[in-house]
Amino acid sequence: MKIFKCPNCASTIFFENSRCVNCGNVLGYDAVSDGFIIPNSYNSYYNNNFKFCDNHKYGICNWLIEDDGNHIFCKACELNRKVPAESDTENFQKWKKLEVAKHRLVYQLLKLNLPLESKIKNNQGIAFDFLSENNSDNMVTGHAGGVITILLSEADSVHREQIRMQMDEPYRTLLGHFRHEMGHYYWGFFFDYSDNIFNFRNLFGDERQDYNQAINHYYCYGAPLNWNLNFISKYATSHPWEDWAETWAHYLHIMDTLETGNAIGISFSSNQTQNQEIHITRCSNPYQTRDFKTIFETSIALTSAVNSLNRSMGLPDIYPFVVPEPVFQKLSFIHNLFNQHLYS
Ligand SMILES: [Zn+2]
Ligand SMILES: [Zn+2]
Ligand SMILES: [Zn+2]
Repeated sequence: MKIFKCPNCASTIFFENSRCVNCGNVLGYDAVSDGFIIPNSYNSYYNNNFKFCDNHKYGICNWLIEDDGNHIFCKACELNRKVPAESDTENFQKWKKLEVAKHRLVYQLLKLNLPLESKIKNNQGIAFDFLSENNSDNMVTGHAGGVITILLSEADSVHREQIRMQMDEPYRTLLGHFRHEMGHYYWGFFFDYSDNIFNFRNLFGDERQDYNQAINHYYCYGAPLNWNLNFISKYATSHPWEDWAETWAHYLHIMDTLETGNAIGISFSSNQTQNQEIHITRCSNPYQTRDFKTIFETSIALTSAVNSLNRSMGLPDIYPFVVPEPVFQKLSFIHNLFNQHLYS
């Protein structure tokens, strides 16, 4: 993620801010210019035609839209189909937490120039349903035909940590969930009716194997012992579609952390990178880097540095992953798909 500046006083603004903590101006995020803007309605010195997304009134969204009378929601909020009612206070607060992660997801998908249309307008598009488990039986967070269901209970951090331990996962976050589920949606975009499917199957396996059977098998028997030689996570072993979604989410993690490293201006001394035979000097902008090896090596330098920082604070590693060669190949494949898409 970029580091943003206040257009009035140039103080640092975080992505979720809707007011500058230094000069007090109300401001919002404009996805088109990828920057923060002070809407004219809050400070008439700024000559523009922006207004806040309708979810701003609940403190749920700080994105701006053109006040052209055609829209009430921003690019991120217009993807919502079902959200809890404001009167349902507990679930409403949970939804608010989930929107923080979803807005970060949408930010990155826009950066990757991926199609992002609301299913309400286009049936091929995307819809988010934020549901509480009480609505019907056996509901899970997941994707089906462009509809991404997110259980509101995911926002409960104690519940999430319990599941993380039950499933023996080193990493479980809301942002990770969103990235994973969107991976399923974009699988269709990249591979339905495409020649690329042969390359996909070479790396990830044949997705035509029975999905439900594969998932049930995974939940009964777990991952094979040597899963870490070929997969980014245990769950990725369950079915080629899950491997794709897990690897896709991992690719987005790498790209976002590197964009942040680049925005802060992080550079590495040769001491830090020598051990791994990596000779990276600074974090370049990953969205402008064609060569995935460079991105990957920078990511190793950055994440091992940040893991060390976390350990200094007695915290678990921010990046609890080891990437074996086959996963590197899968990540490169995803990167090349983006490049082909971006430059075609
Ligand atoms: Zn300011
Ligand atoms: Zn919005
Ligand atoms: Zn999945």
